[in-house]
Amino acid sequence: MTYQHNDNNGQAIALPAGKVVCVGQNYHDHIKEMGSVTNEQAVLFMKPNTAICDLRQPLSIPADKGECHNEAEISVLIKSPLSKVTPEQVMAGVWGLGIGLDLTLREVQKSLKALGRPWELAKAFDRSAPLSPFIALEQFDDVQNIDFSLTVNDQLRQSGNTKQMIRPIAQLLSTISESFTLLPGDVVLTGTPAGVGPLLMGDQLTLKMAEFSLTTKVKRE
Ligand code: ZN
Repeated sequence: MTYQHNDNNGQAIALPAGKVVCVGQNYHDHIKEMGSVTNEQAVLFMKPNTAICDLRQPLSIPADKGECHNEAEISVLIKSPLSKVTPEQVMAGVWGLGIGLDLTLREVQKSLKALGRPWELAKAFDRSAPLSPFIALEQFDDVQNIDFSLTVNDQLRQSGNTKQMIRPIAQLLSTISESFTLLPGDVVLTGTPAGVGPLLMGDQLTLKMAEFSLTTKVKRE
């Protein structure tokens, strides 16, 4: 099934599925659980548009590549080109926000890190970025005060609030736009709070962001 960005009323958004730019280490509690330290420079990486899939469909995780971890993150859909834009101006280029998963092959990532290699094999594989429908930016009073959570098989696994971000959304987008032009239809994943862990076949996931909620299931590839 081909992917299309949708809004929370089930209407297609007339933007193509572009690249996904992700930030690592944007919540202190996750940095702690990974045994990492906070860096002054943002940890940025990308997933190609072939990583994007619809979170409302069953999740397909790679077989035989070790643990595949959940990273629930607030997603940002871009509507107009952003290149070297200040934090004050950058939100004018945002269509809206959703929730998504930055699926991560944790064992693959560990060995890549040990070898000093790039992370694509662990982070940018097909369907590694399942995305929810998007809610228009105007519907949020304050993008830096949004609760979100991931429940796996009725157990709360991750919960956060965007006010806990080390780099707030506007600052993050501005920093990204210094190096990578964001184009209409691109998506930014804004980092994960603590609670990453392996997903297993048959797991039922419920993702919530503010009033919005959706449930999906994991199947093996
Ligand atoms: Zn992540």
